[in-house]
Amino acid sequence: MSVKTYTYTDTTQISPHFNVKEFRCKCGANHDIIISDELITKLETLRDKLNCSKIIVNSGYRCSAHDKNVGGTGSGQHTKGTAADVVCYAQNGQPISSKIVCCTAQDLGFTGIANITSSYTSTHLDVRTGSKWYGDETKGTSTVTNDFYSYFGISELSETDSSEVIACGIDVSKHQGVINWEKVRASGKVDFAILRAGYGKEYSQVDEQFERNYSECKRLGIPCGVYWYSYATTAAEARQEAAVCLSVLAGKSFEYPIAFDIEEQKSLANASELCLAFCSEIEKAEYYTAIYSFKSALENNINDSVKNKYDIFLSHVGVSQTTYSGKYGLWQYSWTGSIPGISGDVDLDYAYKNYPQIIKASGLNGFANNQDNDKISSSDTLEQILKHVASIDEKL
Ligand SMILES: [Zn+2]
Ligand SMILES: [Zn+2]
Repeated sequence: MSVKTYTYTDTTQISPHFNVKEFRCKCGANHDIIISDELITKLETLRDKLNCSKIIVNSGYRCSAHDKNVGGTGSGQHTKGTAADVVCYAQNGQPISSKIVCCTAQDLGFTGIANITSSYTSTHLDVRTGSKWYGDETKGTSTVTNDFYSYFGISELSETDSSEVIACGIDVSKHQGVINWEKVRASGKVDFAILRAGYGKEYSQVDEQFERNYSECKRLGIPCGVYWYSYATTAAEARQEAAVCLSVLAGKSFEYPIAFDIEEQKSLANASELCLAFCSEIEKAEYYTAIYSFKSALENNINDSVKNKYDIFLSHVGVSQTTYSGKYGLWQYSWTGSIPGISGDVDLDYAYKNYPQIIKASGLNGFANNQDNDKISSSDTLEQILKHVASIDEKL
């Protein structure tokens, strides 16, 4: 195996998608970098195989001191230039599950592979010689498997969505009036809130309660997301709505998706096109997006490629079990909920994904980009990631 040494300031493009600078040690000493050719070749193959939009290297080369600093032995694979901790992103801008990355890396012959975050977003990959190591650091430092497919229960490479409710929430707008968020929080019934930010394509159409609802959620630590009620009938209008929405989101951070609310009868005729137009603008700005609509609209008006591309926020009320057969990350199951602190009816929602973890770990929605994982400890999630990375490298 050949490894090359580069100076710290080298910005050589070593392969079509990887640059020397992405592998710099983050200790601050600005010293030389060692990178294995084989690691880069394999990362390119992985990128291709997974059809990634990008692969972010959170940690590449580490000098011995830095390796120790992040909890390693000071002589692990990162210090040899043969390892990278990566997050692989799909074409829709969202992280590909580490389960899929581990299985694919196994197929491609990486010799050291481990899932390193409980949100299954980060993967350690290396090209060690003379031994093989497959691990899952979220299940303890000694969890080793011979086959990721059987370990994760994956028979073929398709993302498996959880059918388990992992958080309960509400979605609100000015129609709920001035909400007493302290009472909402004290009720213990609300893990998250999806706030209407506004509607339509005019800057004057921001929801009257949005700023207050947002700042109250932040003050009280209630994770929140956003929905934007659409009146668009053309893709151009949907893009204008996205621009207005983005201007409202600027400078804020959201633990839950930014949902395109498409339910107006006039909008449904070309719903797929409108969803694509709005959501792609939101994604370009590094937000995690979703499509909100009724079961019937999702089934009849939005095509599969759009539904597969974005998370679905399903609205299907009045049933204890939805008969919607597609995948969804959020389900609005009631319009007549009753929550302390809110007068009148409120919409109730279930979340099926750990959105706060996924979104923070991938640096979306106004959270710091985890490209600088080694340096950032501004959130618990990133700190947890660092601990995981550190614990794995102790043994690598
Ligand atoms: Zn260093
Ligand atoms: Zn690593």
